[in-house]
Amino acid sequence: MKVPFLDLHASYLELKDELDEALLSFLQYGQYIGGSKLTSFESSYANFVGAKSCVGIANGLEAIELSLKALGIKDGDEVIVPSHTFIATWLAVSNCGAIPVPVEPDVSSYSIDIDKIQNAITNKTKAIIPVHLYGQPVDLDPIIQLAKSNGIYVIEDAAQAHGAFYKKKRIGSHGDVVAWSFYPGKNLGAYGDGGAITTNNVDLAEKIRVLGNYGSKEKYVNNVIGYNSRLDPLQATILDVKLRRLDEWNYRRREIAAKYLKELRGLDLLLPDRFDLDNGAWHLFPVRSLERDKLMNFLKLKQIDTIIHYPIPPHKQKAYASYFKGIKFKLAEELSSQLLSLPIGPHLSSEETDYIIEMIKEYLT
Ligand SMILES: *Cc1c(COP(=O)(O)O)cnc(C)c1O
Repeated sequence: MKVPFLDLHASYLELKDELDEALLSFLQYGQYIGGSKLTSFESSYANFVGAKSCVGIANGLEAIELSLKALGIKDGDEVIVPSHTFIATWLAVSNCGAIPVPVEPDVSSYSIDIDKIQNAITNKTKAIIPVHLYGQPVDLDPIIQLAKSNGIYVIEDAAQAHGAFYKKKRIGSHGDVVAWSFYPGKNLGAYGDGGAITTNNVDLAEKIRVLGNYGSKEKYVNNVIGYNSRLDPLQATILDVKLRRLDEWNYRRREIAAKYLKELRGLDLLLPDRFDLDNGAWHLFPVRSLERDKLMNFLKLKQIDTIIHYPIPPHKQKAYASYFKGIKFKLAEELSSQLLSLPIGPHLSSEETDYIIEMIKEYLT
């Protein structure tokens, strides 16, 4: 049986009639930047996550970057980031001229270790970026408290956490600002690049909107040096349709995660069993193994696609080589050599899930 890592075409087929109709109406409507298709999605998404404002941005990286810029993060400032994350979290900081200060993960959640944040704070620290990696919500309360008492901002990287909950409230308005990506493979994915920010701070949202629109609120009047970073209304049209299925699709992910957790227990494999089954978005299902590469190759032979998130930690990338020469982040390095993401997604069938489980059992027993 051939099992893809994620079947995006299947999600199109499930919504084909609605998507085809929405796209046709977009083409006939004729406004190709901004317009009501964009504002409709922005208000649906703000409503969905329970935030006062949503601003569409061109992609997730720039959603983080414009958030930092709008909060005044600049040259020489320090921003605390997880040592174990997708590199975009760091790039957003560096692109503002600021310095990413990595903090190691907690070994059961793989998210930033809250107990290690305090030590990383200096008088240059301006913000913390917790990342809800794998769709697993970070324990935000202690981070927000710590940030408040140190006068620094919290920018959540929620690129993998669409629909996740933290303490009965959806991710989307706990921190000062929350950055989203709608890259096709995310839980809520467009058919191209896309991103957004959500926040309860209406003034900050407006500032970010202006920054992403050449620094202009009124056409041809520019008050700040801005960017062109807007969510394409064609993508917004697609996202508005897909958003209606997000909870159901996340529910299907959760069922697969529950099955993996039950069936793979007791094998020589570390499961994400400390993740919050009910509140997480289960963007990914990472398992940890000392024999990761062998397991990956075996599954490949059995035609099961898996992916490593992420094979090289940011501090070991050439891009950051001159900053972190000789500096070790032991846990990030360990995780990058041991984690493997199994297929998970709303269209992974129970036959496919059973086959994956069977093959892993065959390999490990
Ligand atoms: C995908 C992702 C991003 C970047 O989003 P893009 O839309 O691809 O720019 C940032 N952070 C994390 C954790 C991501 O997974």
